[in-house]
Amino acid sequence: MFLHRYKFLKNKLIFFIFNVVSVFCMNNQNPEPPIKGAISFGDISFDIRYNKDSNRHYIWIHGDEKTAKMAIMNHLKFYPGKGFFINSQDREVNYLDTKIDPNRIFSRSGSFKTLKKFKPEWAPGTLKPALDKLDIQREKFLENFFPDSTGLVIAVHNNSRGYNVKDELKFSTKVSLNSKQSSKDFIICTYEGDFEKLAVGPYNVVLQDKLPSKDNGSLSWAALRNGIRYINVETRLGWRTKQEKMLEFIIKSLDQ
Ligand SMILES: [Zn+2]
Repeated sequence: MFLHRYKFLKNKLIFFIFNVVSVFCMNNQNPEPPIKGAISFGDISFDIRYNKDSNRHYIWIHGDEKTAKMAIMNHLKFYPGKGFFINSQDREVNYLDTKIDPNRIFSRSGSFKTLKKFKPEWAPGTLKPALDKLDIQREKFLENFFPDSTGLVIAVHNNSRGYNVKDELKFSTKVSLNSKQSSKDFIICTYEGDFEKLAVGPYNVVLQDKLPSKDNGSLSWAALRNGIRYINVETRLGWRTKQEKMLEFIIKSLDQ
């Protein structure tokens, strides 16, 4: 009996050591992508990280959405692509004497709204220069950030409040919902060919290929306006494995 137990424990220990060693080796084979540069949108800076360069550009733009950051970082251990990571711990970033949401400044109308949201009163003659400044900074940022016309932007986000795919239906031209999926986990794409490939999978997917008359300043609309394919991967905060699986599913589906 004692001998049995000893053997059992010994086997368990060997199995445990084997697992630790193999995880260690796997991590060494697939290191986290190192920082290789930076770009900025005015004072908002983004580190550029990758192991293997490609015209697939991943972006983490909301500093409070930590799951999304980890998901991209993990994804880039295994797949080629450039990751752009905002240098911020918070959702909003400082701008002049106020704050802005960095994913609401990709159009003038969106910028106007976000500037007014965080600072309702602007002294006469100060709001227009602030908007003009963002216009110039935006153009410069997008020139550096967008891949070539055959590339793809993948934005990775998390939600924790009420936001879900139903909020996106009014902007969508095609929809593929799966009732087994949480409505808070979904994919937005701007190119119909991508939608067709992704819609056959298990996830909630919507196509947004028509610009609204007044957009909210999200990067997705700027990508669409500039003819750059864009995909948004949204999951609940904390659902890292889910988000990593969605990223992997997207890349495998598009490469078929
Ligand atoms: Zn976000």
